[in-house]
Amino acid sequence: MNFSDLGLSPEVLRAVEDAGYKQPTPIQEQAIPYVLMGRDVLGCAQTGTGKTASFTLPMIDILASGRARARMPRTLVIEPTRELAAQVSEAFDVYGKHHKLNQALLIGGESFTDQERKLDRGVDVLIATPGRLIDLFERGKILLSDVKILVIDEADRMLDMGFIPDVERIVGLLPKIRQTLFFSATMPPEIRRLADAFLMNPKEISVAPPASPAATVVQALAVVAADEKRDALRRLIRSENVKNALIFCNRKRDVDILCRALKKDGFDVAALHGDMPQPKRTETLERFRNNEIRLLVCSDVAARGLDIQGMSHVFNFDVPIHAEDYVHRIGRTGRAGREGRAFTLAAPEDGRFVQAIEQLIGRPIPPVSVDGLAAAALSFEESDGRGRGRGRSRRGGGKPHAAGPHRGERQGQQHQSHQRQGVHRHEPPRAAKAPQPARTPEPARYAPITMGAAPAPRPAAPEAGDRDHGGDDGQRVVGFGDHMPAFLARRTARG
Ligand code: AMP
Repeated sequence: MNFSDLGLSPEVLRAVEDAGYKQPTPIQEQAIPYVLMGRDVLGCAQTGTGKTASFTLPMIDILASGRARARMPRTLVIEPTRELAAQVSEAFDVYGKHHKLNQALLIGGESFTDQERKLDRGVDVLIATPGRLIDLFERGKILLSDVKILVIDEADRMLDMGFIPDVERIVGLLPKIRQTLFFSATMPPEIRRLADAFLMNPKEISVAPPASPAATVVQALAVVAADEKRDALRRLIRSENVKNALIFCNRKRDVDILCRALKKDGFDVAALHGDMPQPKRTETLERFRNNEIRLLVCSDVAARGLDIQGMSHVFNFDVPIHAEDYVHRIGRTGRAGREGRAFTLAAPEDGRFVQAIEQLIGRPIPPVSVDGLAAAALSFEESDGRGRGRGRSRRGGGKPHAAGPHRGERQGQQHQSHQRQGVHRHEPPRAAKAPQPARTPEPARYAPITMGAAPAPRPAAPEAGDRDHGGDDGQRVVGFGDHMPAFLARRTARG
């Protein structure tokens, strides 16, 4: 299928051609005709699938007729982070270059005055993070009663960040009759219920199974002692042909600590997290995009959805606490069909987190060892103390899983890709017999991973306040613990 088959105007088609796109991506192919028809859309798609263009392109055409009135935006795009909002704003610039559309970007950390001035002129597209939007609404600077199209992007991330109450409030301020486009990388029940509450008879589109990492990302897991992770990272960066990489930490303060340590070692590195002032975040990102910085140590929120072309590597300095973050992190590489490499450094105590990730992605992360460092073993704590398996330990090269459908194929591919200096893929040992609980007296207990088993309960996040919730609007982060969102209380068609 070609872009010209989708019903877009010649001006938008020209902008698409100028962008160098030859063919629509699956989400564009499926969503654009429905958006143009005025239908609600529920899109289950990750970043990197071309989902931004799937809503911006048709919106530009819909907006081509009509004019915006002062302080009354005609369309609203809600994004969880400033960086994503800025990216969507750029997309409107690129694809709308042959149209005369006004847009405003309302994000925390930027001057209110400039944003208000833009609103006063009338905007066709308003792109906002929830906190700043509510702030401006409360100051009486904006009226949402003329919004014809609402886009809720990265809904699962909004949920993670505690923004759902804000989003519900915003939606309550919009006209009931409107078109709603709702995107989420994953579709857990809370998100599904939210979609049921916000959308009317939506066209449902799912372009990749939820939580499937891009096939072009070669993944590897190195298990080392916790105090050797930094050394392991240095060795990996040196032995891999790293063009540019994101290095993820779970905590904001570790982002700074690791960045300083790498700098001291002579690496070309900068930090990115939600506590940094917005101008500094923007500048750092720009320098990274322009290849002026090779390594960016970052938190999940700051780096969520960043679209940086041709990024060669992702390093998980910490195993993510939430398994879904693993998919988002490694999805920063391997974009647009290029091969990317994603290394995860795990300390022995990260066993349960690794287990949750492997259950989510439906396959083991191939183990590797780092030259010069001893491979450690993952430890899997028992969650209920009822003897769910005193399994075996997993050395770097262990074979904990039953073979999944793609195992042979993927590991073959990864075997080749890891034949670089410094990194060795372990040969899996012969499968061990299931351990006999009565005869395994060792104090550290290990549970083999069972494919397809119910995911392990999500462990508590580390110290609240240190996890990066983005600092997007300098606002309080409200979680479900404090607030019962209305959509959860309502009964829906799906129960
Ligand atoms: P997104 O999923 O919206 O973050 O898009 C990921 C990347 O894919 C962006 O850099 C887009 O410029 C690019 N992209 C979007 N649509 C296409 C297309 N049809 N062909 C090639 N690249 C595309």
